[in-house]
Amino acid sequence: MTENTDIRAEVVRAAQAMDESGLVVGTAGNVSGRHTGGTIWLTPSSLPYDQVSIDNLAGVDLEGNLVAGVSRPSTEKAMHLACYRAFPEVGGVLHCHPVHASMFAVAHRSIPAVIEEVIIYLGGDVAVADYRPTGTDELGEEVVRHLADRSAVLMANHGMLCVGSSPNHALHAAQVAEHTARIVWGASRLSDPVELPTKARSDFAEVYSYLRTQTWATSARLLS
Ligand SMILES: [Zn+2]
Repeated sequence: MTENTDIRAEVVRAAQAMDESGLVVGTAGNVSGRHTGGTIWLTPSSLPYDQVSIDNLAGVDLEGNLVAGVSRPSTEKAMHLACYRAFPEVGGVLHCHPVHASMFAVAHRSIPAVIEEVIIYLGGDVAVADYRPTGTDELGEEVVRHLADRSAVLMANHGMLCVGSSPNHALHAAQVAEHTARIVWGASRLSDPVELPTKARSDFAEVYSYLRTQTWATSARLLS
């Protein structure tokens, strides 16, 4: 067993939980995790999630060269790698197509941070990144623009991308974003959602900033 085993197992667990909780359909979506040694482990391209195991993940370096494992990495690896290159504290990336968040992405509407936990866990409103074709370096550059102080971004006419200190942490961000999108979508049938008070927004944003700068890198090290 190598020291990479734990992070690979967490990538597999997060990918299967993403599938089981309905954040994707079929083989859509992808998950990755960064080992402290630098290798990034990605789910393979077009393999059903119940067949994904630690033995068929693809290990790549920051430039995307295959350095371990035998599988073809997800075709959307470019945006995963863009996140790891831009943010040293990020230890997990997850891309999914959840129904409610994708409704906002299709409508080019951000998910407003009208619930406290959205700011604490995601940093604030979930913005919509401009459309770029799937799998391109341009898509990676575009999503990264929105993730310096956020854990989630919508991808116009496509889906959502989330980052965290680990694959499980990125999965949690996706669940919070989708849960919030569903609430806001329902609330908007009653009236326009009401914003949190300005002070609450700034106070909770400070909590997010503290967690990201002070704890993400530490927790990623502990998990590896
Ligand atoms: Zn996708």
